[in-house]
Amino acid sequence: MNLLQPVSGVTGLFVPVPLPVRDTNCYVLDTQDGVVIVDAGMDTSDARSVWEDFIRETGLDRQKVHFLFVTHFHPDHLGLAHWLSERLQTPVAMMRQEAAMSQRLHQPKSPPIEPDTVRAFYERHGVPAVIIEHWLALDKALRGALTIPTSFKTFEHQDVVRVGELELRFLEQGGHTAHQGLIYLPATNALLTGDQVLARITPNVSLWPGGEENPLAEYLASLNRLLELPHPVGLPAHETLISDVNHRVAELLQHHDVRNAKILGFLDEGPAQAYGLTRRLFQRPLDDYQLRFAVGETLAHLEFLRSRGHVQLASGMETALYERA
Ligand SMILES: [Zn+2]
Repeated sequence: MNLLQPVSGVTGLFVPVPLPVRDTNCYVLDTQDGVVIVDAGMDTSDARSVWEDFIRETGLDRQKVHFLFVTHFHPDHLGLAHWLSERLQTPVAMMRQEAAMSQRLHQPKSPPIEPDTVRAFYERHGVPAVIIEHWLALDKALRGALTIPTSFKTFEHQDVVRVGELELRFLEQGGHTAHQGLIYLPATNALLTGDQVLARITPNVSLWPGGEENPLAEYLASLNRLLELPHPVGLPAHETLISDVNHRVAELLQHHDVRNAKILGFLDEGPAQAYGLTRRLFQRPLDDYQLRFAVGETLAHLEFLRSRGHVQLASGMETALYERA
């Protein structure tokens, strides 16, 4: 079994996911009086069997499990929570507003946003109809495949909670999702970063139809708040450990500056739609799934630049055409 001991009192478990990131890192925090679990992984038979092996080897089902905290509502974190919480007889916990969001978005029957609204949104930004239809089909398949816990224990930003001997500080961060929950452990100066800060990948920050209006502004403001921490080691939900969160945050801030400058450079050549700009920004081949995140990312940048007065929407157009302000 492939385990990780990133800092004293924390065990990391690689739970496989059928996504390019390959694993979700789930963590078990020893409190000296039972444990707290962070993230569950995606609901697949491979993921369930990794948890079953871990439970058998550690006797986790005979220990006190205070709660299973899920950092955010994406299926590679929340998907298996309903099963694991039942298996270990423990409540699922989330930031309060993130829990509300997950219940709203993952209703099995009615989609949270009408397909026509989604279609109109992407058409306006120049995405070809055949690609939009594929995305809508993926949405539908995903919604049916996900079981959401019926109730949540909830936390608020800056809650400080003592569980056993362990102090946990909850920090809410926007941008990747609107209310992602991170946990800071002062005893070991470690930060469970969820998907907010990753060691190599730049976490996706997308403008979604019906979502936050300026997610990149939220993301950058959230990252800047992390810089107040004393250079913790980062325990992320994917990939390898982050030896210094502050250092990685500085790199991410710079990455977004560079991308903003690149988009402004393209717009200096003339007005453009988000889809065309996406194709210029992301030159490597993308499958339809990745393309959606790329379009969302480009739009997040365009709306950020618009909020800062660098870019505007050309007036009198049916389609959204961005130009230099
Ligand atoms: Zn993830």
